[in-house]
Amino acid sequence: MYWNKDLETLDRGRLESLQLQRLNATLEKASRAPFYKTLLSRDGFRGISSLSELSRLPFTSKADLRQAFPYGFLAVPLESVVRLHSSSGTTGNPTVIYHTKEDIDDWQDLVARCMYMAGVRKTDVFQNMMGYGLFTGGIGFHYGAEKLGAMTIPIGPGNSKRQIWFMREFGTTVIHVLPSYALRLATHVQEMGLDPRRDLKLRIAFVGAEPHTEETRRRIEETWGIKAYNSYGLSEMCGPGVAFECPEQSGMHIWEDHFCVEVVDPETGKPVPEGECGELVLTSITRTGTPLLRYRTRDLTRIIPGRCPCGRTHRRIDRILGRSDDMMIINGVNIFPQQIEQTLMRIPGIGANYLIEIHEENFMDKLHVSVEMSADAFQGTLSGVEGLHGRVLAALKEETGVTPVVKLLEGGSLPAAEGKAVRVVDLRPHGKREC
Ligand code: AMP
Ligand code: ZN
Repeated sequence: MYWNKDLETLDRGRLESLQLQRLNATLEKASRAPFYKTLLSRDGFRGISSLSELSRLPFTSKADLRQAFPYGFLAVPLESVVRLHSSSGTTGNPTVIYHTKEDIDDWQDLVARCMYMAGVRKTDVFQNMMGYGLFTGGIGFHYGAEKLGAMTIPIGPGNSKRQIWFMREFGTTVIHVLPSYALRLATHVQEMGLDPRRDLKLRIAFVGAEPHTEETRRRIEETWGIKAYNSYGLSEMCGPGVAFECPEQSGMHIWEDHFCVEVVDPETGKPVPEGECGELVLTSITRTGTPLLRYRTRDLTRIIPGRCPCGRTHRRIDRILGRSDDMMIINGVNIFPQQIEQTLMRIPGIGANYLIEIHEENFMDKLHVSVEMSADAFQGTLSGVEGLHGRVLAALKEETGVTPVVKLLEGGSLPAAEGKAVRVVDLRPHGKREC
């Protein structure tokens, strides 16, 4: 039931003293990174004597990470770094996180802990359908599953027929998959005349990397005849492994022996009372390559009050309700609207007005970009317009990594904004959820 019973069920008092001790060690380590060196010495920070003092520390934001690119957050000599990962956004400097050998070991252990908690064992066959590479989703689970000892198939995303072929031939029992893709893949299984309960051995799916509703989870479970567990993580903390569901499936245990957790009002930055929704702020307390203090995740959630019947003492967060910034997550890929705007505005023939819509089509997210052409472009020939369409599509694809549906419109076709222009309309079922 437990990967590490002592740590997972540590009583709160001891857990909190472990946090305090690790937090002070982290402050010491973080102050070796150029960014924190300046910040902490400016505020005359010497260490803290109780966890309640955590809120005296400054926040760290994604913008700070970008500004200090490439090495401003590196807290160890380069020779101690064994890997880097980065976020999926490609505008300007990506947010880069450095991992030492120790960080990788801890990360593997965390993912193994999460997988074990959901019931994965050495005898399982694990098919990892998440992207490998700079994105942490694929690699994070890969090494966690290997650490646990399950046979791991590093298949990556896409190619549904092949996925199903592997699942049948090797008797896959566990998958890691985007929630949207889990539902899409199920339709392929049905089209092939297969019944997942009869023809497959699947029992567990880990779903994460993008917001999804309880209804989506239930649907995944019913269609496949399996248990689906929500998995939360972000590259800034390590990647997957930060918070996972236990068999109770009532919130995700956030591993407080590795992270200090706060939930704050996104406007004021002040803590919200336990149980109320706000922005999750995390401090990594075991990481050495890039320790981050009070990192503003921009993810909206709440702490679920009370103890979990599973016996674990680490607090639980609710499923992520949305973001406090305008980041969009399209099939697991993080995209900011500004990336789209900047790309469009660089293309001659494109006017000033545009609209981004996110639809759900066949369970997958689909990005639609409608953009007005400038007057001179529209006077051109039809082939000229087709050429422009191709350029817009290629440029957006290169910038964001996803293939949008592009519509070129005559100038003045989009509604003129009376106040602040509404540039993004999220039409997905979970798109409207707020704190
Ligand atoms: P990345 O740093 O590229 O791995 O992206 C991390 C972001 O993905 C998080 O900050 C969340 O916004 C989102 N995310 C990851 N896991 C989940 C999940 N289980 N539910 C909702 N959003 C998630
Ligand atoms: Zn539990």
